Parts: sequence; C-alpha cells; structure tokens
Amino acid sequence: MKCKYCDKTFPEDDDTVLNYFEHTKINHYELLGDEDKMMHDIRDKMIKSKIDYDKFKKEIGDSDLFFNSNDSDNA
Ligand SMILES: [Zn+2]
Repeated sequence: MKCKYCDKTFPEDDDTVLNYFEHTKINHYELLGDEDKMMHDIRDKMIKSKIDYDKFKKEIGDSDLFFNSNDSDNA
C-alpha cells in the first residue's frame, strides 16, 4: 500500500490500514479536504473505540454476562 500524498509505502499486514491512517494523520492531515478530514475524524473515533473494545475484551474476557448485568443501572 502506497501513501496517496508521498512516496512512503506500507508493507501489507494486519496493521497496514492503521499504520497508513496514523501516517496520514501525522504527516498529511493539512492536505486533506474538508470531506476527507471529516471521514478521517470519524475513522479515528472508530479505530479508538475498536482499540478500547479489544482492550476491554481482553481485560474482562469474552462474556456478555457483564453487559446484561448492567442493564438495570440506567436510571
Ligand atoms: Zn505520506
């Protein structure tokens, strides 16, 4: 995968998209158009919440009992 904005290339592996995303944010954010910036921000949030979710899953395990037990606490 090659950067759209410079000559950097990214090896294809599980982290390619994330690496490219971080690279764009750090090096080329100012070059993005308004729409691209918006998409970038949305993706940024999604990636962060996915990372949080993965961490969370590792910490508590894969049980959904945790979620169900919290349902009555929303007063
Ligand atoms: Zn680049």
